[in-house]
Amino acid sequence: MTPVTCMAGRKLALFGLGGSGLATLAALKAGGADVLAYDDGETARAAAQALGHTVSDLRDADWTEFDALVLAPGVPLTHPAPHWTVERARAAGLEILGDIELFCRERAATAPDAPFVAITGTNGKSTTTALVAHLLREAGRDVQMGGNIGTAILSLAPPAADRVHVIEMSSFQIDLTPSFADASPVPRPPEEVGAAARPDERASGAPRRDGEGGRGASVVPGPTVGLLLNVTPDHLDRHGTMEAYAAIKERLVMAARIAVVGVDDATSEAVARRAALAKGDACRAISAARVVGEGVYADGTRLVAAARGQAIPVADIAGIGSLRGTHNAQNAAAAVAIGLALGLDAPAIASGLASFPGLAHRMEQVGRVGRVLFVNDSKATNADSAEKALGSFEGVHWILGGKAKEGGIAPLRPFFGRVARAYLIGAATEEFAATLDGAVPLVRCGTLDRAVAEAAAAAARDGADRPVVLLSPACASFDQFPNFEVRGDRFRDLVRALPGFAPLA
Ligand code: ADP
Repeated sequence: MTPVTCMAGRKLALFGLGGSGLATLAALKAGGADVLAYDDGETARAAAQALGHTVSDLRDADWTEFDALVLAPGVPLTHPAPHWTVERARAAGLEILGDIELFCRERAATAPDAPFVAITGTNGKSTTTALVAHLLREAGRDVQMGGNIGTAILSLAPPAADRVHVIEMSSFQIDLTPSFADASPVPRPPEEVGAAARPDERASGAPRRDGEGGRGASVVPGPTVGLLLNVTPDHLDRHGTMEAYAAIKERLVMAARIAVVGVDDATSEAVARRAALAKGDACRAISAARVVGEGVYADGTRLVAAARGQAIPVADIAGIGSLRGTHNAQNAAAAVAIGLALGLDAPAIASGLASFPGLAHRMEQVGRVGRVLFVNDSKATNADSAEKALGSFEGVHWILGGKAKEGGIAPLRPFFGRVARAYLIGAATEEFAATLDGAVPLVRCGTLDRAVAEAAAAAARDGADRPVVLLSPACASFDQFPNFEVRGDRFRDLVRALPGFAPLA
């Protein structure tokens, strides 16, 4: 745990008692803060009480007594409407902080030089975070990984000069990290200003900004390396407009000492241009599609580092099963850029890439039966994600279906030629059958159990060199499963139970 000692003696309101909220509460109390904690949900309140925490009804509190509101990232700050605690905090002139802001202030107060890698983007955050952590661990570094992936940041070991924190951040978490905005030369959109008060607007939290008070005057240092992978429309219900969403993500790289920015979509490319202007060669571009001048790019499967007019091959990801596909070339290029920025050498990076096991449910290679490879891509809950998996294989025995998203699988038509046969499950069966009709042979299987059996049998008979059975549902899971993890776990169990199953060497 990271006790938040910089808040010792402060009186704080904390709202949101889910996993990260409870971790924040424990870390604040361990650091000596006086915290009044609450949640709108009865179950969450009971869970906090069961852990020995006192829960206080913040609706009855005198908000002028608080130094700040600490908010869990799931609670709306701006859209669709600010949560009532946000309104109360604003009325009382309080700053509004999330757990990563608390970490940043604790780092500033206790170990300002502790290496801190912050990672964001619309897609690929978890994969890249896990890959960066893996590269660093394999190179012998002391690594703490968490944030939006796995462990809440304040449940990790405290920042220290010889310990790297690799932290995945959602845009909600960035929005609750006001010191990033202070360190950023990019103005926030008008509707954002005032959402979270600046650290110098209240006498709370250490360390303080210096007396100048202008932008960039913050003494809360930003991440050592900040990565923005890509920006495509997502979560607009929570951020209002694409501009607001992109501006939030931009803050993370602008606040970082070294900015690593994707240039494969127009929005992040624009961010990269601004970051290069602001930071010069402390801004590195990454691309899976084209050569970049300063940064890392993929030339096919070769990852090349470009700096000061030189281009040096670092690694080749051909044949690395956990890094198939152009999207993973982007993730790998980003991880290489971060590894280089933190002083890893090319051989260490190449060997770390080769041993990356990948993440569960994202094109996870479960194993083989004879020549047939089984791949669990249960995280693909929409067509966009399933496209990445379909684009990575040929002759696919494709298990899909569940609760369809708007637009269904029509956008995947260009990939139908890669499909040997489709095995339909769940509520989307008839809709998907209609889209696939005439283009792809299909079987209506109903359940995942039947689909795995049918696909395994047909793939075994398949004349192709390396047939693949792929669960990439392009659907949410909740018509048949509680979530995509349970769906993927079931797939893995079914595959492992097949006669002749062998894990990958
Ligand atoms: P996130 O944490 O941002 O949700 P993940 O690493 O969990 O991302 O990957 C989720 C899915 O997003 C993957 O299964 C894949 O389909 C897709 N994906 C992964 N990396 C990228 C990328 N760089 N660009 C586009 N899509 C990606």
